Amino acid sequence: MLSVSGLGQEIQRLFYPHVCALCKAALVKSEQGLCAFCISILPRARFISFVENPVHQAFRGRVPIRQAGSFLTFRSGGVVQELLHQIKYRDNTGLAEAIGHYYASELLASGFVLPEILLPVPLHPAKLRQRGYNQSEVFAEGLAGRLGIKQIPNALLRRHFTETQTKKSRWDRWQNVDSVFALKNPERFSGKTIAVVDDVVTTGATLESCISVLLKANVQSVDVLTIAYAKE
Ligand SMILES: [Zn+2]
Repeated sequence: MLSVSGLGQEIQRLFYPHVCALCKAALVKSEQGLCAFCISILPRARFISFVENPVHQAFRGRVPIRQAGSFLTFRSGGVVQELLHQIKYRDNTGLAEAIGHYYASELLASGFVLPEILLPVPLHPAKLRQRGYNQSEVFAEGLAGRLGIKQIPNALLRRHFTETQTKKSRWDRWQNVDSVFALKNPERFSGKTIAVVDDVVTTGATLESCISVLLKANVQSVDVLTIAYAKE
């Protein structure tokens, strides 16, 4: 059976021959997912530090986190929306993995303190069956490979849908999603430094729910890493 990454590469070859996801120019061997020019013009979040940046601040007073980082800044109608669309709905897993590699290189060159384990935010099983892959897991795989740390998919589990959560207040949302996630074999994460990985952070409600599950398992610290950050 193919791994998620192997399957991703197969899908990538079928639907995304070696062209840039944005400008469709042919890629040279050293380029992955995007051409060098398009990478250079991506709207980077470029937070000055991994504490007290907008993502880190979004969790203040909610759950304690050690560091937070996002690779890009999301704007409606912008190129990041196009990238996320390809990653989520167009089977472009190669792009998700490539973005993981690019962000990992940036993290290694910055003051980010590496965690021991990456845990991707899971999709609901029904959505996973429909999509065939979890884009956050593929992104985490790209990150983990380049950072030289491990990612453990399927450790965080999602229990049920929260379709009405967007209509509720932040507090209601927190309570609503809190029961959605569970951690498999929580004892193995006790005392570990963990980073939770997701595609986009907006309100942080989903991540907050995952983080509170991890804190109950007595992890040492939690970081947040996402492809993009979107202002609410
Ligand atoms: Zn390009």
